[in-house]
Amino acid sequence: MAQYTPMIQQYLKIKAQHKDAFLFFRLGDFYEMFFQDALSASQELEITLTSRDGGGEERIPMCGVPYHSAENYIKQLIEKGHKVAICEQVEDPKAAKGVVRREVVQLITPGTVMEGSMLDEEENNYLASVSDFEDGTFTVSYNDLTTGENSIAMLSEGFNAVLSELFNRPVKEVVVDHSFDKDKQQLFKDRLGLTVSFCDETVITEDFSYLVKDIHNDKCTKGFGRLLNYIQHTQKRSLDHLRPVKLIELKKYMTLDMYSKKNLELIETMRKQGKKGSLLSVMDRTMTAMGARLLKKWLERPLLAFDEITTRHEQVEGLLEQFFERETLREQLKSVYDLERLAGRVAYGNVNARDLIQLKLSLTAVPELLDILGQFENRSIHALYKAIDPLTELKELLETSLLHDPPIQISEGGMIQDGYHPKLDEYRDASKNGKQWIAELEAKERNETGIRSLKIGYNRVFGYYIEVTKPNIPHLPEGRYERKQTLTNAERYITPELKEKETLILEAQEKSVELEYELFIKIREKVKQFVGELQILAEQISRIDVLQGFAQLADENDYTRPELNNQRSVDVKQGRHPVVEQVMDRGSFVPNDIFMDESNDILLITGPNMSGKSTYMRQLALTSIMAQMGSFVPCEQASLPVFDQIFTRIGAADDLVSGQSTFMVEMLEANHALTHATENSLILLDEIGRGTSTYDGMALAQAIVEHIHENIRAKTLFSTHYHELTTLDEELIRLKNIHVKAEEYEGSVIFLHQIQEGAADESYGIHVAKLADLPEPLIDRASSLLKELENTRVEEASSEQLSLFVEEEKPKAKTSKLESRLKDLDLMQMTPMDAMNELYQMQKQVKQKS
Ligand code: ADP
Repeated sequence: MAQYTPMIQQYLKIKAQHKDAFLFFRLGDFYEMFFQDALSASQELEITLTSRDGGGEERIPMCGVPYHSAENYIKQLIEKGHKVAICEQVEDPKAAKGVVRREVVQLITPGTVMEGSMLDEEENNYLASVSDFEDGTFTVSYNDLTTGENSIAMLSEGFNAVLSELFNRPVKEVVVDHSFDKDKQQLFKDRLGLTVSFCDETVITEDFSYLVKDIHNDKCTKGFGRLLNYIQHTQKRSLDHLRPVKLIELKKYMTLDMYSKKNLELIETMRKQGKKGSLLSVMDRTMTAMGARLLKKWLERPLLAFDEITTRHEQVEGLLEQFFERETLREQLKSVYDLERLAGRVAYGNVNARDLIQLKLSLTAVPELLDILGQFENRSIHALYKAIDPLTELKELLETSLLHDPPIQISEGGMIQDGYHPKLDEYRDASKNGKQWIAELEAKERNETGIRSLKIGYNRVFGYYIEVTKPNIPHLPEGRYERKQTLTNAERYITPELKEKETLILEAQEKSVELEYELFIKIREKVKQFVGELQILAEQISRIDVLQGFAQLADENDYTRPELNNQRSVDVKQGRHPVVEQVMDRGSFVPNDIFMDESNDILLITGPNMSGKSTYMRQLALTSIMAQMGSFVPCEQASLPVFDQIFTRIGAADDLVSGQSTFMVEMLEANHALTHATENSLILLDEIGRGTSTYDGMALAQAIVEHIHENIRAKTLFSTHYHELTTLDEELIRLKNIHVKAEEYEGSVIFLHQIQEGAADESYGIHVAKLADLPEPLIDRASSLLKELENTRVEEASSEQLSLFVEEEKPKAKTSKLESRLKDLDLMQMTPMDAMNELYQMQKQVKQKS
């Protein structure tokens, strides 16, 4: 290190403290990066890699970005999950003896960005922290620096529950301690795409203890402490706006595991991983960014409490009933800016006059908002606005102090109104009078000299001057002015009087700009005292926004208010799939009923591929989620129970990340449902067993259905192409067969998408292949094979030789051993995982012997 120049030594010293970040090292007008940072950044940002001599034996790799356009580069790095440490010169280079002192003034990380261009308006930007404890519990804490929101949840169902909790939430970064299990860290990265950061400190200092005053649980306090310490280390600025930590009581919300959130495409679609086509995108009729963020939160956590859900339904109904008032309300909401983030920035101390104008406009909209809400007749609406404080004092402060169209810079003046401050008015008068005097002087001089083109101008170097064009100079009386500057076709002059006025004008201007700056800072400080109230107001308005959005949605799409029952019964008349119906021509979606009461827990759904089985199943899950969010639902009439959890095993989406096979994922998901579901849950199992060969798949499917029927009793929709399973209704009294109707017409199949009672009787797979234009000879061959198979099946059935795992020609000795092993299995006591392991062992045995 000794050989390097002092500046490079300084660089290396600072870099050593920020090993996991790109160090943006300020050098004049550039941020430079050196060594490995330069090599990586040049690739990530596609900028030119150069090198410089730094005193060492080899030249040092270097690349840089201009200071003024750094934000864009930082954004790119952050979006890729990196961190950036901004290292500034912290003394005047001219005053420095030796190397200019430099310090890291800010660490920007994916979870802590504040700058507008790096944020999605309609989404929170959470930093999370996960702590694990010896008894197996985990805490997950969240902070959104832009809004100051803090919350924490405690989970005791293992690490998968932690992954499910974080999945799909707008979390970019997770903080853990250094000893946190490495495999789990890897899962954060691979499964959730999170940047993993570290902080071992968990003690909350006295000045921040107010944040955890309502948290009476040591684990939660520690868990949040880690998050807070990390924020303190990275953010070297005011954290006054942080709000007290809210405990997320998970038992108040419906549990949706990671698979279900993914399978049901609540927030993003599976294939494109974008918002479009998700339930969220269909449901969003909010008018403000804050509303959009709250809607997403509601979707992530549907409610369980009857009365809370019904209150929301009641309010939506109230808003739905009065179309015109709702239209006005929506219009009025447009004038409300992002109060929540504005409040965050006010607290941070980096708002400019334009931001405060947005605040003013938002506050101006509030009284009208209240007025319109007052016009809704439904009494439940009162609760929405009665408690709102329109912050009149703050509004008046902003209305009387700020000009409507101020500049972005706060050091240029042009922000404060006349009449706000007497001294400012005085300076402005002086400057205005001076300008008036100059205008009069111009008129007078034109008159007296008779030179009509004479004019008084101003530039930064010479100040005010009188300009006379060359041809007119002979008309100018000798010695009238003092010559100052000669141009090609004009002369510029001054007079002592003009200079005197100039000094006055400029002084007044300078002072007024200075005073404006001071006044603005004071206003900003005053606004800061309202941060807490602004946050509350923001919350109240977001809520109104989400609910009016529900009303609007219900109106546009013909949704109905669902009724809740506590008899575990589902009765939906003419239900539709909220997303699928949107992508189809209006009216072409075929609505279907669904009915399950106390005596019926399982619907076994058969029907050809592509007939609409999985659409039908998802429809119920989505309808229930919507209802429990407080929204109306897509159907003519609905009575629903409050589901505590929804589990899904839908589609054959391989888990590519973890490299697990379809079948393995299928079993894991099924196992997850079977271990956690209660009689108040909803389980959707779509074509379970498809991932493996026919017989073991079918056996597993049957075992699973039986297990649910006997031991769990959750409401279950189970679709299958194993027709053999349709006879289960004879043994399982709470299982009912339904099927999707399809008709054959001139050798092709027509999907009617209608659900009917009873089991389907034919397989239409081959017709689907025909629809997909597979070659004719291939279809013919498949048809004849099918016939053969069907014949064999009939023969097998008639000779009662349907044995699941045994090939007939196998010698007796081999089969009998397996047979006895099979016989000994207590299927009812086995989990699907046990069953699979057993199967695996049996297969191994057969393979070894053959
Ligand atoms: P399956 O699960 O039986 O293979 P899907 O539920 O995936 O079938 O449905 C296949 C396609 O059929 C869907 O993409 C959709 O376009 C259409 N579909 C499903 N249900 C309906 C319905 N009720 N009305 C109209 N079209 C439907």
